Amino acid sequence: MNVKMLSSPRHCVSLLLAVFVSGCYGYSIRYDGYKVLRVDASNERHLRLMNQLQHDRELDFWKFPKDVMVPPEKLAGVVERLDSNGVAYDVMIADVQKLIDSQETQYIEGRHNLDLAGYDFTRYYNLSEIAQWVKDIAATYPSLATEVQVGLSYEGRELRALKVGSEQSESKEAIWFHGTLHSREWISPATVMFMTNQLLVDYSHDPDVQKYLDTYDFYILPVMNPDGYEYTWTDNRLWRKTRSPNEGSPCYGTDGNRNFEFMWGEPGASDDPCDNNYRGPFAHSEIEVKSVTDFILDTSEKQTFSLFIDFHCYGQMWITPWAYSIEEPLHYSEQHTCAGRAASAIESVHGTPYIYGNIISNADPASGLTLDWGYGTANIKHSYLVELRDRGEYGFLLPEDQIIPSGEETYAGLKAMLDCILEGQVV
Ligand SMILES: [Zn+2]
Repeated sequence: MNVKMLSSPRHCVSLLLAVFVSGCYGYSIRYDGYKVLRVDASNERHLRLMNQLQHDRELDFWKFPKDVMVPPEKLAGVVERLDSNGVAYDVMIADVQKLIDSQETQYIEGRHNLDLAGYDFTRYYNLSEIAQWVKDIAATYPSLATEVQVGLSYEGRELRALKVGSEQSESKEAIWFHGTLHSREWISPATVMFMTNQLLVDYSHDPDVQKYLDTYDFYILPVMNPDGYEYTWTDNRLWRKTRSPNEGSPCYGTDGNRNFEFMWGEPGASDDPCDNNYRGPFAHSEIEVKSVTDFILDTSEKQTFSLFIDFHCYGQMWITPWAYSIEEPLHYSEQHTCAGRAASAIESVHGTPYIYGNIISNADPASGLTLDWGYGTANIKHSYLVELRDRGEYGFLLPEDQIIPSGEETYAGLKAMLDCILEGQVV
């Protein structure tokens, strides 16, 4: 969760030159020769070393303390420090740019406008395609889905959500889930879209889904950080933060998942705008965070929220509160039970193992997170952060052929979670 930004990624010399440089395409920021190392930091001494390495801004911890992306000119030095401290490591990704390029061809060839029938979940969609998809879904299922405007991003892009539910009950409870708070985590919007589509397709014939949509209004936002997501398609595939400028700093962006007001500013977030886990100048400084939290709090004056999920990648974890503390919250046993059921349902589909529970804070406490705000401020008992596939083989660069399996298994997890919540309400 604790990640540093890269301050000196490579730039293509120019777009013109890029045409002649194999694989450069539209990205101006490149990762030629960058490696991702998987480090076995198994004791206190190892952890101390990883903490020291974290201060080097040119190292990007994809997942602290074990997965770190290293630029070629830093590799010898990092390896030397690992070796001299007896820390074992493997090379997880040998050349990050080669992996990006191998996936990019398909992205570019596939970019065109589609009608709903054309969204087949075998590739990632860019922001304008996702915006069109939201419109198309609402047009295709007018009795079940409507488009909801949650707000605008810093650069003025719409936060386009869907409200999904039947009109069968007047006092329905509500559910919120979103993807893409961290923009490089492309499997998150794809999985959120897959599940949304599946709920609507299955409503006609699946009594369980009929029950969910008759009981709840689902508010679903596929892309919470549209500026960052657009930037990962145009300039830097590995951008994580928002794109708001920081006064007095050359570095852009705030980590949306350190910007929520619950325990904001406590340990587990950076106060340096150049860090990838920068908490922002104040809680809810990011308009995307402010818009979503305002929307949920305003809506909860009329409807009670039963579930909040923030979808990220990677790691295969269904995470329960708290992120900021190892203390177990009041409703831990219910949260832990339902997270466990979701995890087993996920594993039952394609055998993808998930761990679950209050597991952020054991390794790496983090403050100002979504799930702590959902539980601690918005009073949503079932408030979670889910880290989708994988466990590091591809990390943020998960191939497109994993979108459908990820969607299928996560959908099973969501249904198990809903069943668990509904059972709990009966008892
Ligand atoms: Zn994330």
